[in-house]
Amino acid sequence: MKTLKDRVIVITGASSGIGEAMAKVYAAQGAKVVLGARSVQKLQLLTGEIRAQGGQAAYCGVDVTQPEECRELIETAVREFGRLDVLICNAGISMRAIFDDVELDVLHRLMDVNFWGTVNCCKYALPYLQRTKGSIVGISSVAGLHGLPGRTGYSASKYAMTGFLETLRIENLKKGLHVMIACPGFTASNVRFSALTADGSQQGETPRDESKMMTAEQVARIVGRGIVRRKRLCLMEAEGRATHFVKKFAPGFLDRMFYLVMSREPDSPLK
Ligand code: NDP
Repeated sequence: MKTLKDRVIVITGASSGIGEAMAKVYAAQGAKVVLGARSVQKLQLLTGEIRAQGGQAAYCGVDVTQPEECRELIETAVREFGRLDVLICNAGISMRAIFDDVELDVLHRLMDVNFWGTVNCCKYALPYLQRTKGSIVGISSVAGLHGLPGRTGYSASKYAMTGFLETLRIENLKKGLHVMIACPGFTASNVRFSALTADGSQQGETPRDESKMMTAEQVARIVGRGIVRRKRLCLMEAEGRATHFVKKFAPGFLDRMFYLVMSREPDSPLK
Protein backbone atom coordinates (compact mmCIF):
# COMPACT_ATOMS: atom_id res chain seq x y z
CA MET A 1 0.00 0.00 0.00
CA LYS A 2 1.87 3.12 -1.20
CA THR A 3 -0.92 5.61 -0.46
CA LEU A 4 -4.33 5.60 1.17
CA LYS A 5 -6.06 6.13 -2.19
CA ASP A 6 -9.03 3.76 -2.66
CA ARG A 7 -8.39 2.11 0.74
CA VAL A 8 -11.56 1.43 2.73
CA ILE A 9 -10.97 2.86 6.22
CA VAL A 10 -13.28 2.53 9.23
CA ILE A 11 -12.70 5.24 11.83
CA THR A 12 -14.35 5.10 15.25
CA GLY A 13 -14.82 8.34 17.17
CA ALA A 14 -15.10 10.21 13.87
CA SER A 15 -17.55 12.85 15.11
CA SER A 16 -14.87 15.01 16.76
CA GLY A 17 -11.17 15.81 17.21
CA ILE A 18 -8.59 13.37 15.84
CA GLY A 19 -11.19 11.02 14.33
CA GLU A 20 -12.91 13.83 12.44
CA ALA A 21 -9.54 15.11 11.20
CA MET A 22 -8.52 11.62 10.01
CA ALA A 23 -11.81 11.31 8.11
CA LYS A 24 -11.26 14.61 6.29
CA VAL A 25 -7.55 14.13 5.60
CA TYR A 26 -7.81 10.52 4.37
CA ALA A 27 -10.90 11.22 2.24
CA ALA A 28 -9.01 14.12 0.63
CA GLN A 29 -6.22 11.61 -0.13
CA GLY A 30 -8.72 9.39 -1.98
CA ALA A 31 -9.61 6.89 0.76
CA LYS A 32 -13.18 5.64 1.22
CA VAL A 33 -13.93 6.46 4.83
CA VAL A 34 -16.59 4.90 7.03
CA LEU A 35 -17.35 6.97 10.10
CA GLY A 36 -18.55 5.67 13.45
CA ALA A 37 -19.56 7.47 16.67
CA ARG A 38 -22.70 8.02 18.77
CA SER A 39 -23.45 11.54 17.45
CA VAL A 40 -25.19 10.52 14.25
CA GLN A 41 -26.09 14.05 13.23
CA LYS A 42 -22.44 15.11 13.29
CA LEU A 43 -21.47 12.05 11.21
CA GLN A 44 -24.21 12.86 8.72
CA LEU A 45 -22.90 16.43 8.33
CA LEU A 46 -19.29 15.29 8.00
CA THR A 47 -20.22 12.65 5.41
CA GLY A 48 -22.09 15.32 3.43
CA GLU A 49 -19.09 17.66 3.64
CA ILE A 50 -16.69 14.97 2.38
CA ARG A 51 -19.03 13.98 -0.49
CA ALA A 52 -19.53 17.63 -1.46
CA GLN A 53 -15.76 17.87 -1.92
CA GLY A 54 -15.72 14.82 -4.19
CA GLY A 55 -14.73 12.30 -1.54
CA GLN A 56 -16.33 8.97 -0.69
CA ALA A 57 -17.79 8.42 2.76
CA ALA A 58 -20.43 6.48 4.67
CA TYR A 59 -21.40 6.52 8.32
CA CYS A 60 -22.98 4.36 10.98
CA GLY A 61 -24.10 5.37 14.45
CA VAL A 62 -22.20 3.22 16.94
CA ASP A 63 -21.59 3.01 20.64
CA VAL A 64 -18.37 1.00 20.67
CA THR A 65 -19.21 -0.55 24.04
CA GLN A 66 -21.98 -2.48 22.23
CA PRO A 67 -20.58 -5.45 20.22
CA GLU A 68 -23.61 -5.70 17.88
CA GLU A 69 -23.30 -2.03 16.95
CA CYS A 70 -19.60 -2.56 16.17
CA ARG A 71 -20.56 -5.47 13.94
CA GLU A 72 -22.97 -3.18 12.08
CA LEU A 73 -20.26 -0.53 11.62
CA ILE A 74 -17.94 -3.06 9.99
CA GLU A 75 -20.77 -4.52 7.87
CA THR A 76 -21.63 -0.99 6.69
CA ALA A 77 -18.10 -0.61 5.31
CA VAL A 78 -18.25 -3.93 3.47
CA ARG A 79 -21.78 -3.30 2.18
CA GLU A 80 -20.94 0.22 0.91
CA PHE A 81 -17.46 -0.37 -0.46
CA GLY A 82 -17.07 -4.15 -0.81
CA ARG A 83 -14.01 -4.63 1.39
CA LEU A 84 -12.11 -3.39 4.42
CA ASP A 85 -8.47 -2.30 4.42
CA VAL A 86 -7.96 -0.35 7.64
CA LEU A 87 -9.70 -0.23 11.02
CA ILE A 88 -8.77 2.75 13.21
CA CYS A 89 -9.85 2.27 16.83
CA ASN A 90 -9.88 5.90 17.86
CA ALA A 91 -13.06 6.33 19.95
CA GLY A 92 -12.00 7.24 23.45
CA ILE A 93 -12.72 9.13 26.64
CA SER A 94 -10.44 10.46 29.35
CA MET A 95 -10.63 11.25 33.07
CA ARG A 96 -9.07 13.52 35.69
CA ALA A 97 -8.98 12.40 39.33
CA ILE A 98 -6.52 10.53 41.51
CA PHE A 99 -7.31 6.95 42.46
CA ASP A 100 -7.93 7.92 46.14
CA ASP A 101 -10.96 9.94 45.07
CA VAL A 102 -12.32 8.31 41.93
CA GLU A 103 -15.46 6.19 41.89
CA LEU A 104 -14.80 2.73 40.51
CA ASP A 105 -17.55 3.14 37.95
CA VAL A 106 -15.44 5.81 36.22
CA LEU A 107 -12.62 3.31 35.66
CA HIS A 108 -15.10 0.76 34.32
CA ARG A 109 -16.41 3.34 31.83
CA LEU A 110 -12.88 4.11 30.66
CA MET A 111 -12.18 0.42 30.09
CA ASP A 112 -15.56 -0.10 28.38
CA VAL A 113 -14.97 2.58 25.75
CA ASN A 114 -11.20 2.61 25.25
CA PHE A 115 -10.36 -1.07 25.70
CA TRP A 116 -13.56 -3.04 25.06
CA GLY A 117 -14.53 -0.67 22.24
CA THR A 118 -11.26 -1.61 20.52
CA VAL A 119 -11.76 -5.33 21.14
CA ASN A 120 -15.37 -5.24 19.87
CA CYS A 121 -14.45 -3.55 16.59
CA CYS A 122 -11.42 -5.78 16.00
CA LYS A 123 -13.51 -8.91 16.53
CA TYR A 124 -15.79 -8.19 13.57
CA ALA A 125 -13.18 -6.49 11.36
CA LEU A 126 -10.50 -9.17 11.64
CA PRO A 127 -11.77 -11.68 9.01
CA TYR A 128 -12.10 -8.89 6.43
CA LEU A 129 -8.67 -7.44 7.29
CA GLN A 130 -7.02 -10.85 7.06
CA ARG A 131 -8.47 -11.15 3.55
CA THR A 132 -6.95 -7.82 2.42
CA LYS A 133 -3.77 -8.09 4.57
CA GLY A 134 -4.95 -4.80 5.99
CA SER A 135 -4.17 -2.70 9.05
CA ILE A 136 -5.52 -2.30 12.55
CA VAL A 137 -4.57 0.98 14.21
CA GLY A 138 -5.08 1.63 17.91
CA ILE A 139 -5.04 5.28 18.88
CA SER A 140 -3.33 4.98 22.24
CA SER A 141 -1.51 7.87 23.92
CA VAL A 142 1.72 8.90 25.62
CA ALA A 143 -0.31 7.78 28.67
CA GLY A 144 -0.15 4.31 27.10
CA LEU A 145 3.67 4.46 27.19
CA HIS A 146 4.03 5.54 30.85
CA GLY A 147 1.52 5.96 33.68
CA LEU A 148 -0.04 9.43 33.72
CA PRO A 149 -0.96 10.60 37.24
CA GLY A 150 -4.61 11.59 37.65
CA ARG A 151 -5.48 9.25 34.78
CA THR A 152 -5.23 5.73 36.27
CA GLY A 153 -8.22 4.42 34.30
CA TYR A 154 -7.08 6.15 31.11
CA SER A 155 -3.50 4.84 31.26
CA ALA A 156 -4.75 1.37 32.23
CA SER A 157 -7.15 1.29 29.26
CA LYS A 158 -4.40 2.32 26.83
CA TYR A 159 -1.93 -0.24 28.25
CA ALA A 160 -4.67 -2.86 27.91
CA MET A 161 -5.18 -1.85 24.28
CA THR A 162 -1.45 -2.27 23.69
CA GLY A 163 -1.37 -5.76 25.23
CA PHE A 164 -4.36 -6.81 23.18
CA LEU A 165 -3.10 -5.36 19.88
CA GLU A 166 0.47 -6.64 20.27
CA THR A 167 -0.87 -10.15 20.85
CA LEU A 168 -3.17 -9.84 17.85
CA ARG A 169 -0.14 -8.84 15.76
CA ILE A 170 1.78 -11.95 16.80
CA GLU A 171 -1.20 -14.29 16.32
CA ASN A 172 -1.48 -12.93 12.77
CA LEU A 173 2.23 -12.94 11.98
CA LYS A 174 1.79 -15.42 9.12
CA LYS A 175 -1.40 -13.82 7.81
CA GLY A 176 0.03 -10.47 6.75
CA LEU A 177 -2.01 -8.35 9.14
CA HIS A 178 -0.45 -5.00 10.05
CA VAL A 179 -1.03 -3.69 13.58
CA MET A 180 0.07 -0.19 14.59
CA ILE A 181 -0.15 1.52 17.95
CA ALA A 182 -0.20 5.31 17.66
CA CYS A 183 0.66 7.46 20.67
CA PRO A 184 -0.27 11.12 20.32
CA GLY A 185 0.74 13.59 23.02
CA PHE A 186 -1.54 16.46 24.05
CA THR A 187 -3.67 17.31 21.00
CA ALA A 188 -6.28 20.07 20.78
CA SER A 189 -9.71 18.38 20.80
CA ASN A 190 -12.81 17.86 22.90
CA VAL A 191 -11.23 15.10 25.02
CA ARG A 192 -10.41 17.19 28.09
CA PHE A 193 -13.83 18.92 28.06
CA SER A 194 -15.61 15.56 28.13
CA ALA A 195 -13.12 13.92 30.55
CA LEU A 196 -14.74 12.30 33.59
CA THR A 197 -14.06 13.66 37.07
CA ALA A 198 -13.99 11.65 40.33
CA ASP A 199 -17.79 11.29 40.47
CA GLY A 200 -18.20 10.51 36.76
CA SER A 201 -19.48 13.93 35.69
CA GLN A 202 -17.84 15.58 32.68
CA GLN A 203 -15.11 18.12 33.43
CA GLY A 204 -16.62 20.65 30.98
CA GLU A 205 -13.40 22.66 30.65
CA THR A 206 -9.75 22.07 29.84
CA PRO A 207 -6.98 22.57 32.40
CA ARG A 208 -4.39 23.07 29.66
CA ASP A 209 -3.73 25.65 26.93
CA GLU A 210 -5.21 23.92 23.87
CA SER A 211 -3.59 26.44 21.50
CA LYS A 212 -0.11 25.14 22.44
CA MET A 213 -0.88 21.53 21.49
CA MET A 214 -0.57 19.57 18.25
CA THR A 215 -3.59 19.94 16.02
CA ALA A 216 -5.82 16.95 15.27
CA GLU A 217 -4.95 17.39 11.59
CA GLN A 218 -1.21 17.06 12.29
CA VAL A 219 -1.88 13.84 14.21
CA ALA A 220 -4.07 12.55 11.36
CA ARG A 221 -1.30 13.12 8.80
CA ILE A 222 1.35 11.37 10.91
CA VAL A 223 -0.94 8.38 11.58
CA GLY A 224 -1.74 8.21 7.84
CA ARG A 225 1.98 8.03 6.98
CA GLY A 226 2.41 5.34 9.63
CA ILE A 227 -0.33 3.24 8.02
CA VAL A 228 1.20 3.54 4.56
CA ARG A 229 4.65 2.57 5.93
CA ARG A 230 3.11 -0.22 8.03
CA LYS A 231 4.85 0.94 11.19
CA ARG A 232 4.44 -0.90 14.53
CA LEU A 233 4.59 2.15 16.74
CA CYS A 234 3.74 5.68 15.72
CA LEU A 235 5.18 8.40 17.96
CA MET A 236 4.56 11.97 16.97
CA GLU A 237 6.24 14.73 18.91
CA ALA A 238 9.17 15.36 21.25
CA GLU A 239 7.17 14.32 24.37
CA GLY A 240 6.25 10.95 22.91
CA ARG A 241 9.74 10.19 21.60
CA ALA A 242 11.38 11.33 24.86
CA THR A 243 8.96 9.22 26.94
CA HIS A 244 9.62 6.13 24.83
CA PHE A 245 13.40 6.61 25.04
CA VAL A 246 13.83 7.77 28.67
CA LYS A 247 11.56 4.99 30.00
CA LYS A 248 14.12 2.41 28.88
CA PHE A 249 17.02 3.97 30.76
CA ALA A 250 15.66 6.20 33.56
CA PRO A 251 12.06 5.25 34.44
CA GLY A 252 12.32 6.78 37.95
CA PHE A 253 13.33 10.12 36.43
CA LEU A 254 10.36 9.86 34.08
CA ASP A 255 8.03 9.28 37.08
CA ARG A 256 9.24 12.53 38.63
CA MET A 257 8.87 14.44 35.36
CA PHE A 258 5.32 13.18 34.80
CA TYR A 259 4.41 14.07 38.40
CA LEU A 260 5.90 17.56 38.01
CA VAL A 261 4.14 18.30 34.72
CA MET A 262 0.73 17.07 35.86
CA SER A 263 0.94 18.66 39.33
CA ARG A 264 1.47 22.05 37.68
CA GLU A 265 -1.93 21.92 35.94
CA PRO A 266 -4.45 24.36 37.40
CA ASP A 267 -6.62 22.56 40.02
CA SER A 268 -4.40 19.49 39.75
CA PRO A 269 -5.82 16.58 41.76
CA LEU A 270 -2.23 15.67 42.77
CA LYS A 271 -1.75 16.77 46.39
P1 NDP B 1 -12.64 13.89 21.23
O1 NDP B 1 -13.34 13.93 22.56
O2 NDP B 1 -12.57 15.13 20.42
O3 NDP B 1 -13.24 12.70 20.36
C1 NDP B 1 -13.58 11.47 20.93
C2 NDP B 1 -14.41 10.68 19.96
O4 NDP B 1 -14.74 9.42 20.56
C3 NDP B 1 -15.71 11.37 19.60
O5 NDP B 1 -15.95 11.26 18.22
C4 NDP B 1 -16.76 10.58 20.37
O6 NDP B 1 -17.97 10.57 19.63
C5 NDP B 1 -16.13 9.20 20.37
N1 NDP B 1 -16.68 8.34 21.42
C6 NDP B 1 -16.64 8.51 22.76
N2 NDP B 1 -17.31 7.53 23.38
C7 NDP B 1 -17.76 6.71 22.41
C8 NDP B 1 -18.53 5.51 22.39
N3 NDP B 1 -18.96 4.94 23.53
N4 NDP B 1 -18.83 4.94 21.21
C9 NDP B 1 -18.42 5.50 20.05
N5 NDP B 1 -17.69 6.61 20.00
C10 NDP B 1 -17.37 7.22 21.16
O7 NDP B 1 -11.18 13.38 21.59
P2 NDP B 1 -9.87 13.09 20.72
O8 NDP B 1 -10.11 13.32 19.30
O9 NDP B 1 -8.77 13.80 21.38
O10 NDP B 1 -9.68 11.55 21.04
C11 NDP B 1 -9.53 10.56 20.05
C12 NDP B 1 -8.58 9.50 20.58
O11 NDP B 1 -7.28 10.08 20.73
C13 NDP B 1 -8.96 8.94 21.94
O12 NDP B 1 -8.79 7.55 21.95
C14 NDP B 1 -7.96 9.60 22.88
O13 NDP B 1 -7.71 8.82 24.02
C15 NDP B 1 -6.75 9.71 21.98
N6 NDP B 1 -5.76 10.70 22.40
C16 NDP B 1 -6.11 12.01 22.51
C17 NDP B 1 -5.16 12.93 22.94
C18 NDP B 1 -5.50 14.37 23.10
O14 NDP B 1 -4.75 15.09 23.80
N7 NDP B 1 -6.55 14.88 22.48
C19 NDP B 1 -3.80 12.52 23.29
C20 NDP B 1 -3.56 11.12 23.11
C21 NDP B 1 -4.51 10.25 22.68
P3 NDP B 1 -19.46 10.56 20.23
O15 NDP B 1 -19.44 11.34 21.50
O16 NDP B 1 -20.26 11.15 19.13
O17 NDP B 1 -19.77 9.10 20.43
